[in-house]
Amino acid sequence: MLNIILFGPPGAGKGTQSEKLIHQYGLHHLSTGDLLRSEIAANTPLGLEAKKFMDEGQLVPDSVVIGMIENKLDANPNAAGFIFDGFPRTVAQAIALDELLIKHGHPIAAMVAMEVPHPELVARLINRGLTSGRSDDTEEVINKRIQEYENKTRPVAHHYEGQHKYSPINGIGEIEEVFNRIIEAINNAKSNVTA
Ligand code: ADP
Repeated sequence: MLNIILFGPPGAGKGTQSEKLIHQYGLHHLSTGDLLRSEIAANTPLGLEAKKFMDEGQLVPDSVVIGMIENKLDANPNAAGFIFDGFPRTVAQAIALDELLIKHGHPIAAMVAMEVPHPELVARLINRGLTSGRSDDTEEVINKRIQEYENKTRPVAHHYEGQHKYSPINGIGEIEEVFNRIIEAINNAKSNVTA
C-alpha cells in the first residue's frame, strides 16, 4: 500500500496533479475539500456546518474532517493506497492521520509539497473563480485561505520533515513538468519504503 500526502497552499495545483496520479498508480484520491463540497451539495447537517467556515476562508473543525477521513479509510480496506489532498491541514489532523494509518498498517510514505509563490497563487485562484463557481474563490476569501495556510497548515510540513518524509518540489511550470517532479519524488519514497 502506498500512502502519499500531496501538500501545498490553496491554488498550488493539488487537484490537477491528484487526477494524474490516480491514473499512474491506481491510488484512491481523498480530497477533504471535495468531500466537504459533496456534503454541501447534498444539504447534509455536516455540509451546512462546514459551509459557514469555508465561505469565510477558515478551516473546518478538525473533528469533522478527521471523521470523514476515518470513514473513507474504513470503507476502502483493500485500496492500493491513498493520495491525501488538502489533508492533513493542521498538526492535530496529521497526528490523527498517523494514528489511523498505523492502525491500518501502512504509514505515510511521503509528503510531496508543491511550492508556489503567493502572488502566483492569488492570480491562479482569482482566475479559477471566473469559472469554478466556488464561493470561496474571491479575492477577500482567497487571502484569508492563504493566511490560514500560513498559520495552521505550514507547520504540518515540519511534522513530516521530522519523520524524514518531507519532499518539496517546484510547483511552477507546465502541468506535465510538475507531474514528472512529483513522480520522481514518489519513486524515491517508494524505494525507501521497500528498502
Ligand atoms: P483549496 O486548497 O484550494 O483551498 P480545498 O478544496 O482543499 O481548496 O478546500 C476548500 C475549503 O474546505 C478550505 O478553505 C477549508 O475551509 C475546507 N477544508 C478542506 N480540507 C480541510 C481540512 N483538512 N481541514 C479543515 N478544513 C478543510
